[in-house]
Amino acid sequence: MSSFKGHCHCGKTEWEAKLEQDQQSHILCHCDTCKTLSGSTFTLNQIIPKSALKITKGEPDLGKYTYYGESGKGVHCYFCKNCTVHVYHHQEIAGPDTIVLRTGLLDEGIKNFKPTAEIFGKAKLPWEKEVAQTFETLPPS
Ligand SMILES: [Zn+2]
Ligand SMILES: [Zn+2]
Repeated sequence: MSSFKGHCHCGKTEWEAKLEQDQQSHILCHCDTCKTLSGSTFTLNQIIPKSALKITKGEPDLGKYTYYGESGKGVHCYFCKNCTVHVYHHQEIAGPDTIVLRTGLLDEGIKNFKPTAEIFGKAKLPWEKEVAQTFETLPPS
């Protein structure tokens, strides 16, 4: 288990995530929502227990944006209200104790983590090369 620090673009929000060895990697998500929220082709994520993430600065000022996924359940996105960077997402379908962390926002994570899976491959753009095992939607649980 190691600790990884992250911060938003403006610096008003900072956080620290404790990640097990097998969580020190990126899951690429190609879904259409990630494309829109990031303005890019995929996002870098890891699924972790909520208790593993500590917002060390700016927690009371986080904004919350909720949308409804294919399941009809809410997905809550927590972001810096000043610069709009999304720190983490909570999918109701995953239960109250599990969150999706943006691994691309961890200082050491973006430099050192490797991709281990690609999800929502069905929405991947045709010119993107495969860099890890790709699933049509989610891996079978
Ligand atoms: Zn910010
Ligand atoms: Zn996505």
